[in-house]
Amino acid sequence: MEEIKSMLRAVFLTKNDMTFPVSGTGSAGMEFCFANLIERGDEVIIGVNGVFGTRMVDVAERCGAKVTKVESPWGKIIDPQQIAAALKIVPRPKLVAFVHAETSTGALTPVEELSKLAHDAGALLLLDAVTSLGGCPVRVDDWNVDAIYSGTQKCLSCPPGLSPVSLSPRALETAAKRRDKVQSWYLDVNLLANYWGQERVYHHTAPISMNYALHEALRLVLEEGLENRWRRHEENHLALKAGLKSMGLEISSQEGHQLWQLNAVRVPEGVDEAVLRKRMLIDFNIEIGAGLGPLKGKIVRIGLMGHTSSKSNVHECLRALSHILNELGHKNDTVAALAAAA
Ligand SMILES: *Cc1c(COP(=O)(O)O)cnc(C)c1O
Repeated sequence: MEEIKSMLRAVFLTKNDMTFPVSGTGSAGMEFCFANLIERGDEVIIGVNGVFGTRMVDVAERCGAKVTKVESPWGKIIDPQQIAAALKIVPRPKLVAFVHAETSTGALTPVEELSKLAHDAGALLLLDAVTSLGGCPVRVDDWNVDAIYSGTQKCLSCPPGLSPVSLSPRALETAAKRRDKVQSWYLDVNLLANYWGQERVYHHTAPISMNYALHEALRLVLEEGLENRWRRHEENHLALKAGLKSMGLEISSQEGHQLWQLNAVRVPEGVDEAVLRKRMLIDFNIEIGAGLGPLKGKIVRIGLMGHTSSKSNVHECLRALSHILNELGHKNDTVAALAAAA
């Protein structure tokens, strides 16, 4: 347990003592953060630019928060000016929350300016790093993030089932000084602290097979090195993007803020994306994701996360896409696409 905590601190780039895996998937980490930090009636500002920001609003409202939504079109980032404008209407929120890497749209929202705005207003900053952790820079201490959660099955390349979290001393103090008990017994950090702290007081039975899996996944992340891992994700994204471009396809998320680990690709005119995905799976054994919400039918999502972010996967994926698109009438040159990626 101590080794998991210290490896997680190394991966989150934090000295936060309260850094450990919550039992449950990424969404459990989301509930953990909101349930501990929010009390009935608290004002909260949440950035919404995809599925997971929308889920944050739902979770926060169930905790009794009065939520002010800051919405961006799906595929775009949450802009500092939007948060600044919301802070004019709600000047003293308890916290500001948003999703770092929106897996549903492929957009990466920069953290630093939003963090500064939140702290200048006296708020805590809560960040969803489910898809970002292990795939691109996540700097908890440098960015002054108060509460952050991730998941094991995205760029950490571990089975699903744990949600690594980290709370700053300020966030911990907020949870300790609550008027009312945390409404979730299972996720109450004040109780979990005695289990994951030195006392090892029984709270719930830890899913220890998952803890062993996470221990090994973190060991592999640190063996590769964070910087090397980020670079690998970036290079494979750029290779995929170059190959797609040569085929006349483009990444649909905001230029300059495109995720390396989740590539949202605009489906060309006249191509049925459901047919494309089905044939990728059946003919080539490659599963790519559908668009969600307003992007349904318009994009497909190609994951290059953790272990799966490799040159050979980029190559296989481009070859399969090229073949199927040619058959579906979107003519392209396979050799040129692979050369562009290389
Ligand atoms: C996957 C994901 C979640 C939810 O995690 P689960 O493990 O599915 O519960 C939350 N936020 C983001 C950004 C995600 O990609």
